[in-house]
Amino acid sequence: MTARLRVNPIMCEAHGLCAELLPELIRRDDWGYPIIDEQEVPPELLRLARKAAGACPTLALLLDERRDQGRRGMVQALVRQGAQVAASSRAGGPGSAGAPGPGSIS
Ligand code: SF4
Repeated sequence: MTARLRVNPIMCEAHGLCAELLPELIRRDDWGYPIIDEQEVPPELLRLARKAAGACPTLALLLDERRDQGRRGMVQALVRQGAQVAASSRAGGPGSAGAPGPGSIS
């Protein structure tokens, strides 16, 4: 089992919550965007890494956990993230109708 944190730079809004929850692996740049340690998440930090990914208000932070299945595990993680984004949109979260999203023109 390996686990790595990844951030979707399009979805991230630089809230900084992730860096507050997991300063061991995430720091912020001058604009507040996360700089993520791309090493494997150590087992003792997995619980906090899951918490940080779950707390991201825009679902930009992904904890990619896989059982060394190569590309298949990554595809499954991306499908899970897509399902989370769709569920969030239906629930009125980021990216739902009425809220301007990235790339919207006003
Ligand atoms: S909590 Fe999410 S939106 Fe906020 S800085 Fe971290 S990745 Fe970006």
